[in-house]
Amino acid sequence: MSNLPMEVLVMLGQTIEKVVPVTIVLALVFTVLTHFWACNSAAPWWRKRELVTDIAYWFFVPVFARVFRIGLMVLGAGVVFNIHDADELIAFYDNGHGPLAELPLWLQAMLFLLASDFMLYWLHRMFHGGGFWKYHAVHHSSEDLEWISAARFHPVNLLIGTISVDVILLMAGISPNIMLWVGPFTTFHSAFVHANLNWTLGPFRYVLATPVFHRWHHTGLEEGGNTNFAGTFPLWDILFGTFRMPDGRLPENYGKDDAAMPREIGGQLAYPFRQ
Ligand SMILES: [Zn+2]
Ligand SMILES: [Zn+2]
Repeated sequence: MSNLPMEVLVMLGQTIEKVVPVTIVLALVFTVLTHFWACNSAAPWWRKRELVTDIAYWFFVPVFARVFRIGLMVLGAGVVFNIHDADELIAFYDNGHGPLAELPLWLQAMLFLLASDFMLYWLHRMFHGGGFWKYHAVHHSSEDLEWISAARFHPVNLLIGTISVDVILLMAGISPNIMLWVGPFTTFHSAFVHANLNWTLGPFRYVLATPVFHRWHHTGLEEGGNTNFAGTFPLWDILFGTFRMPDGRLPENYGKDDAAMPREIGGQLAYPFRQ
């Protein structure tokens, strides 16, 4: 018999254990970088508004992501492949399956990054419209945009976003072992694009999403919002006409004006359901 509450506690402990050292490294890196290359003259990140809210998401999101990922993997294998047995399930995901799993691991990682980024681009555009915006508005509520704001996502946004896309690609056969590289890259890169840095990476601005690129995405409509939806590769914005990085200008004002948006995590999690 399994002891579910105990398992959840252990999972929580393991996740926090992994998150703490990564957080310390990121804090050190971005403290130094933003000291020399700040995009906006702001107080240091540890004095940003709603720091406690961001820290709460920072630890809460990886736990939710893990639970959602495992849940969707079990559900997907059962519904699509009729796999219900625990051992079969482990074997199914162990090292990928089908033609994709035959490719070298680095190529699977590249394919995963490209394919997931393409899907996430369109999901991100979907979240900017209609009935989905209220969930994504939580991510856009940071007025002091810092690396630590990167995890501020509503669980619904997380589930119908990163997690579902990850699981679709794992179900397509890509080996979960790619996460060994993809995971750290994604963590670092998402903190990087939210950091208060004036980096555009010059000509590479078209290749990889940069802090200036993503900070433009966080500006209001009048300043250029509703552009730069890509998470990793600006290629999608170039192809579909949503790329925006004005020459000689830096983004300045972040957050969407919504007086009804609570400032603490509990209120923000309930916010979409009250709309
Ligand atoms: Zn957005
Ligand atoms: Zn963002």
